[in-house]
Amino acid sequence: MSLKGKIALITGGAQGIGSIISKELAGQGAHVVLGDINQEGAEETVAEIKNSGGKASAVKIDVSNATDVRRVFDSILNEYKPIDIVVNNAGITRDALLLRMKEVDWDLVLNINLKGSFLCSQQAIKQMLKQKSGSIVNIASIVGVMGNFGQANYSASKAGLIGFTKTLAREVAPRGIRANAVAPGFIDTEMTRVLEDSIRLKLIEQIPLARLGQPEDVARCVSFLVSENASYITGQVINVNGGMLM
Ligand code: NAP
Repeated sequence: MSLKGKIALITGGAQGIGSIISKELAGQGAHVVLGDINQEGAEETVAEIKNSGGKASAVKIDVSNATDVRRVFDSILNEYKPIDIVVNNAGITRDALLLRMKEVDWDLVLNINLKGSFLCSQQAIKQMLKQKSGSIVNIASIVGVMGNFGQANYSASKAGLIGFTKTLAREVAPRGIRANAVAPGFIDTEMTRVLEDSIRLKLIEQIPLARLGQPEDVARCVSFLVSENASYITGQVINVNGGMLM
């Protein structure tokens, strides 16, 4: 129970990787707040966490909306205590080859994946700076490092997130706050279930460990990074990709 007494916000906590990160951190004793645009889904995960004896609550948030983000961080402060952990996990894809990519899809992906993390991190450090402690983990992607056909918007957002994490880490380190990124490879969630079977098989051929990742593979890494066991780790990008990129 290394996170006992900690308050953690996990964005995009309703399903997929965010839901499993929420369960993992709750299992370590944290009170997890699941922020998602899909509040119903977040409530379902909260019920599962509570049924297994964990502490959790759900809140509706659009991470790309500054007013929404401020409201959620203010309510966490008023209801509980200053935030200890933020996992910027909410993210979307809107894939198309660059020639056909619509401006609206470029903006949407950048606003949610990159601006959303900026807005949440800014509110988080306002509370963490006063406590002189805290940990932020940004969920980037292997695609932000190596690029991918049809994902100019998504890969730019995730590469941006990696640069953002490093600057954030440098700015807040003197005040005892850590920031890291996790770059998952291809993980078995709704996001990748839309891929055709033939594409999934081709991907697996490129993965030395010969399988897609499970959300638990990512969640265990996040759980380590936010814990005291990682107290000397900041500004890093941890690849969780089965060896797909070395
Ligand atoms: P997912 O299953 O699609 O879950 C993402 C969650 O975020 C959904 O509940 C979604 O709600 C929510 N969300 C979307 N827009 C939001 C917004 N504006 N504000 C708040 N919440 C919002 O995705 P996932 O596969 O678990 O991915 C989680 C993170 O890992 C993402 O950042 C993704 O880019 C990253 N990642 C995933 C993979 C992979 O292979 N799955 C690989 C590398 C990185 P709706 O469903 O209602 O939109």
